[in-house]
Amino acid sequence: MSLKIHQFPYLSDNYGVLLHDPSSNTTACVDAGDAEAAIKALEQQNWTLDLLLITHHHADHTAGLEQIKQKTGARVIGPKAGASAAIAGIDQEVQDGDSFQLGKSEVQVIHTPGHTLDMMNYYLPQDGVLFSGDTLFTMGCGRLFEGTAANMLDSLNRLKQLPQQTTIYCSHEYTLHNGGFALSVDPDNIELQVRVAAAEELRANNLPTVPSTMAEELATNPFLRADDEAIRKTLGMEGADDLAVFTELRERRNNA
Ligand SMILES: [Zn+2]
Repeated sequence: MSLKIHQFPYLSDNYGVLLHDPSSNTTACVDAGDAEAAIKALEQQNWTLDLLLITHHHADHTAGLEQIKQKTGARVIGPKAGASAAIAGIDQEVQDGDSFQLGKSEVQVIHTPGHTLDMMNYYLPQDGVLFSGDTLFTMGCGRLFEGTAANMLDSLNRLKQLPQQTTIYCSHEYTLHNGGFALSVDPDNIELQVRVAAAEELRANNLPTVPSTMAEELATNPFLRADDEAIRKTLGMEGADDLAVFTELRERRNNA
């Protein structure tokens, strides 16, 4: 548990994260949407970047890749070119089930298609930390740009298998919007009500609502709760299967 984690905001609502293993003096950065923000965060921490981990090809995760690489010499690890647009500058392509070392910490690669087809999440089992990209958000999930609802439901079902105490870093501060939507489909969920109130207070003080834990998401995130009877009742879908409920939730969230 010696890993140090520093989250920093960039663009309008993105989060980047630096990971630092003091014992080996190894540092990684998750995503590269804004080179200046990443380099400033590295300088503030006085850490030297070794690894740049890319979750998916969207510009708000990759636009600063070449500049960060040039400036730091970091090795870039990211999705294997496949059905999504290829990402220029990747040194080590990864796919589902791969793993690599960040200092003393093992990083496991979990492919979670849905938002995009190339989406990779990075899980550090010894440290209990997941970088969920634009797949699993705090009280929400990513919009379906390339994958199907079935892809995303499968991906989220895989993430649900991680230990409940797992700390989840997602890539955007979408929590208040997500929380409002969650309440619209799960209005009587006390844990959700409490959590939305806490998130409102954090945001009123300009503090991040990210990270969260898997236990919190399991209790309050409607996209992990397609099997919940109260949500199904609110939707009028008591007899439907999980995919139909999930699809309806995702469509309603698109219009929320
Ligand atoms: Zn994205």
